[in-house]
Amino acid sequence: AAKSAGGGRFQFFSEGLNQKAQERVAVEAALREALKKNLLTVHYQPQLELREGRVVGMEALARWHDETLGTVSPARFIPIAEQTGLIHQLGAWVLREACVQCKRWHQEGFPLSVSVNVSIKQVMQEGFSEMVVGTLLEVGLEPKYLDLELTESMLMEKAAESVALLRMFKSLGVQISIDDFGTGYSSLSYLKNFSVDRIKIDQSFVRDVTVRDDAVGIIKAIVAIGHSMGLQVIAEGVESLEEEEKLQLCKCDQVQGYLHARPMPAPEAGAFLRDAFARTAAGAGKEESL
Ligand code: C2E
Ligand code: MG
Ligand code: MG
Ligand code: MG
Repeated sequence: AAKSAGGGRFQFFSEGLNQKAQERVAVEAALREALKKNLLTVHYQPQLELREGRVVGMEALARWHDETLGTVSPARFIPIAEQTGLIHQLGAWVLREACVQCKRWHQEGFPLSVSVNVSIKQVMQEGFSEMVVGTLLEVGLEPKYLDLELTESMLMEKAAESVALLRMFKSLGVQISIDDFGTGYSSLSYLKNFSVDRIKIDQSFVRDVTVRDDAVGIIKAIVAIGHSMGLQVIAEGVESLEEEEKLQLCKCDQVQGYLHARPMPAPEAGAFLRDAFARTAAGAGKEESL
């Protein structure tokens, strides 16, 4: 039908667009409702230091299961939240939830940090830093245990503003990671201007590492540049031992991925932590007795 007359073609596309727009409106309405009724949850995925396997952090990832829409992935609802302004409410909620959870783990004796994804729309809104400081104070979490993840492409889109924003975050004492690193075309000169603590190598590079010979070279270069600037380097999306061995070879500091754990509800993440800490403590004990 789309192939026939010009009029029909227009009809075809506009119907397609309509359907998409309607779907978006439905998701937006459901998301608004879910936020109001507190139906979102946060899952946590461990970040491990590569050399000894210690858990150094947990990344908080928003999850949403809707009665009629089913499970909606963040890849779908985060952009809608950004476009509709719901991201401010959603982001503040995830941040608070993650900080509270991190504080609980500290009280259990696990001094790890929590990584929270934030969108550039969110951080550029008036009052964002006050909201972060307020949450940290209320929860009683030291700023150094909070890590904000911003994607490289978001930072580059607003490169000039980002430089100032990142400096301001630094002054709060929180940590900053550049997410999806390698996909956002940042020039090295810019990286120097960004006051960040860590880069997260995007999983597309990790996936290539066992397939393409040049991938190891690329990762080695990213790690070397990161280290020369005093940054930590974490690889995300690590799924196999083979990948992890290659990353170790590249002198990567930390890993995160299905190989160790999927993102999990807080109780499961807690169980993972207890296991992991028991294991590394046993390892340390053994070394001492030798
Ligand atoms: P991201 O921050 O880069 O998170 C990594 C994504 O990779 C997560 O997808 C995670 O579940 C997935 N992942 C982790 N390990 C593996 C692995 O070994 N293999 C594979 N194939 N995937 C792995 P998820 O949870 O669907 O989130 C997608 C994106 O949505 C995130 O990418 C982040 O950009 C965004 N997002 C999630 N939660 C939030 C939030 O609370 N606020 C904001 N602004 N964005 C969020
Ligand atoms: Mg992230
Ligand atoms: Mg990422
Ligand atoms: Mg991503």
